[in-house]
Amino acid sequence: MHEYSIVSALVDKVEAQARAHPGAIVRVVHVAIGELAGVEIELLVTAFDTFKPKTVCAAAAIAVESRPARWRCPKCKTVIARGEKLRCEPCASPARLESGDEIMLQRIELEMEDDDV
Ligand SMILES: [Zn+2]
Repeated sequence: MHEYSIVSALVDKVEAQARAHPGAIVRVVHVAIGELAGVEIELLVTAFDTFKPKTVCAAAAIAVESRPARWRCPKCKTVIARGEKLRCEPCASPARLESGDEIMLQRIELEMEDDDV
């Protein structure tokens, strides 16, 4: 399944970041998914929970933020929302996709083992 390869790549990135904090436990993995990324968020969460045992994310939850697609005129920088004509009226330029197809690890929340405050 597509979502498993995404999760696998995410877990690799989390592992790389967590390595800088020995002894820390990963608690939350924050991910941003664009609505055009072709990812079913529910499937992604399921894939994460299935994949995480025996990884650095074993004790972690995944928090997914869905990002709406957004286009912008490359000339005058006007933002063009989804559903509007994908062309800037004043410039007659085709809009350029600015966000909405990303799959991004935003940040991870760590808990320090020997540092209970
Ligand atoms: Zn324009």
